[in-house]
Amino acid sequence: MHAIGESSVFPATEVQALIDALAARGYRVIGPVLHQGAIGLGEITDAAALPRGLRQAKTGGREVIRDAGDGAYFAHTVGPEAPKRYLHPAERRICRIERQGDELSIVAEPDAPPRYAFLGVRGCDLAGMAVLDRVLRDDRFRDPAYAARRADNLIIAVNCTEPGGTCFCASMGTGPRAGPGYDLALTELLGGGRHDFLAEVGTEAGAALLEELTCREPADADRAAADAALAEATANMGRRMPAADLKALLQDNREHPRWDDVAERCLTCANCTMVCPTCFCTTVTDTSDLEGEIAARWQHWDSCFTLDFSIVHGGSLRASARSRYRQWMTHKLADWHDQFGTSGCVGCGRCIAWCPVGIDITEEAAAIHAASQAGEGA
Ligand code: SF4
Ligand code: SF4
Repeated sequence: MHAIGESSVFPATEVQALIDALAARGYRVIGPVLHQGAIGLGEITDAAALPRGLRQAKTGGREVIRDAGDGAYFAHTVGPEAPKRYLHPAERRICRIERQGDELSIVAEPDAPPRYAFLGVRGCDLAGMAVLDRVLRDDRFRDPAYAARRADNLIIAVNCTEPGGTCFCASMGTGPRAGPGYDLALTELLGGGRHDFLAEVGTEAGAALLEELTCREPADADRAAADAALAEATANMGRRMPAADLKALLQDNREHPRWDDVAERCLTCANCTMVCPTCFCTTVTDTSDLEGEIAARWQHWDSCFTLDFSIVHGGSLRASARSRYRQWMTHKLADWHDQFGTSGCVGCGRCIAWCPVGIDITEEAAAIHAASQAGEGA
């Protein structure tokens, strides 16, 4: 069996065998699928469900899909959904309250979630999972539902070889090479009459999976091809975050006029937080049936862009679009470091792609950085 850190090569015809090996271990395999005109995530039992050959152009809240005709399994980039959809779902029933005669009893939800294997996880999303782990599992306030869903995952990461126009993982240090946190990391090698995957082993579970595939030892040329593809991906990244101390920059510029500028454009629609792989805020609502026999408590995603999110006695703390956009971006890029010791942004570019008015977090940071360099500011 391969040791951790070792590599192997298998042909693309083995992708179905990989899915089958995951399913045989009792995993629900979650991977990229074409869904409602975008590349989302879904359960995969058949390799034919993967969005082969597809690429996206993303702008203004939509993806335009084209078929490059090359049959590549993973040359597309991340779509609107991240593994967060399964690990920290948008809606979850916490408990039910049932009337039995004069008594009310609280029935806890049995939280025995499926065992998820994630196929095709990109470096940005792997980093996003690590951020959620830090916040929801490993911090003082542990979310037991998240911890249960995360307890037994198997992760097949994919190194990005064709980054999109809204990607900026290279400048956030999270990609295009995935890691750490994977069981296997694949680089798709396509062209010149070949279609193979170079697989790097991250764990013993990943090594055991490779044992079930038809593999060969990698040649120097395989490693060189993978390294060249990743170097090219880094060079072709569509965006970059300014190389600045973003924490100091934003914490020193809470009254910068750029916040007024972005507030003129921002619809406070919350799309950016819904698609973000690291936004974790939730709210709780209670529902009951009309007879008053059964009630339920639900957890839903919430967003710092809603007026209700910061409501306290007397009104909302963040009544203006200016204060809500500033809260979101400053929390992500600056205050998150104080709270969790990490950035809250992993450079996936989803908030840029899915903003209906094209607001771009890298552009906003660059504008404040440029003004600060020029001696203008808060
Ligand atoms: S930045 Fe864009 S996506 Fe986010 S709330 Fe404003 S308009 Fe919506
Ligand atoms: S802030 Fe935007 S680019 Fe950063 S992780 Fe969230 S969605 Fe991705």
